[in-house]
Amino acid sequence: MSVLIFVDTAEGQAKKSSLEALSYGAKIAEQTGTAAEAVVLGAASEDLAALGRFGVKKVHHVTADVFNNFDAQLYTKAIAELATASGADVIVLSHNLNGKAIAPRLSARLKAGLVPGAVSLPETGGAFTVRKNVFSGKAFANVTVNTPIKIVSLNPNAYPVTETGGTAEVVAATVQANEARVKVASVNRASGEVPLTEAEVVVSGGRGLKGPEHWGIVEDLAKVLHAATACSRPVADAHWRPHNEHVGQTGFAIAPNLYIAIGISGAIQHLAGVNRSKVIVVINKDPEAPFFKAADYGIVGDAFEVVPKLTEAIRKLKGVS
Ligand SMILES: Cc1cc2nc3c(=O)[nH]c(=O)nc-3n(C[C@H](O)[C@H](O)[C@H](O)COP(=O)(O)OP(=O)(O)OC[C@H]3O[C@@H](n4cnc5c(N)ncnc54)[C@H](O)[C@@H]3O)c2cc1C
Repeated sequence: MSVLIFVDTAEGQAKKSSLEALSYGAKIAEQTGTAAEAVVLGAASEDLAALGRFGVKKVHHVTADVFNNFDAQLYTKAIAELATASGADVIVLSHNLNGKAIAPRLSARLKAGLVPGAVSLPETGGAFTVRKNVFSGKAFANVTVNTPIKIVSLNPNAYPVTETGGTAEVVAATVQANEARVKVASVNRASGEVPLTEAEVVVSGGRGLKGPEHWGIVEDLAKVLHAATACSRPVADAHWRPHNEHVGQTGFAIAPNLYIAIGISGAIQHLAGVNRSKVIVVINKDPEAPFFKAADYGIVGDAFEVVPKLTEAIRKLKGVS
């Protein structure tokens, strides 16, 4: 009996969302009086024993080269094998892009009930009941899983990274699943210093910015806040910004600690992707813009005047040039 946590990596480093999943899985293990173990697939560029500080006792590391590129089918098979071998009865993943591709496959393979997008720890006293968002974050559902194996994918930024101290035993693991059906020909990484889905702070621009030539003010503010940049859908559709920055119902769903929306009206389809942000700041020249209803703080004003002043003020506050 154990809790098995899949650690999603980028260039061999555990993603922040995986550290949240590790902390969350370790807490479930503590609640249920079992051990927490982790799975890392492919090359790692960090000391995996140090993942023990998030509460896991053991890290199963599969080093075969074929795992160096993400492959949902292969990853699913490997995690399923390791889960069966370790007798895991709870499997935890992040509800990020890779987790979303693996979790349902794993659920079908292990005949295990899945709660996608959990937002809090399960109740484990009697039934195993987990809270998740429904209707694009407008409501919650409490879902009880009755199958012997339970899978939970945790919404990014829904549970804090928690260091409890300790070192994990790292076990070199082999799995039978070692043949990929697809071959990765090349990988083109999105540019930008901070990956959007992992970012703590996001600065986002909409059609109110009038054209791609004005994005400098968004980028300057993002830089001073060490934030990722994002945009509304029409902005991506018009090729002012790349589609990997598009947030909303049909783009990325994000949940940063701070979301700054500049010149974005706040249509329901946009809100669907950002309304889980912890704090929302809206800058819009129209006081009636619907986004203000969802905002924690709002500035009614012209973005071209407000944003450079805001950037300058933050620069001064941080003492950076
Ligand atoms: C099926 C479907 C799915 C969709 N999915 C998405 C999605 O995933 N993501 C998404 O974003 N949209 C999505 N949309 C589109 C959505 O309905 C809106 O049309 C879109 O979000 C509007 O983008 P916007 O706010 O940038 O532009 P606009 O609606 O044109 O708003 C621009 C805003 O900028 C303000 N403004 C103008 N000038 C200034 C200035 N100088 N300073 C400050 N503010 C200024 C205006 O007051 C206005 O509020 C979807 C639509 C459909 C039908």
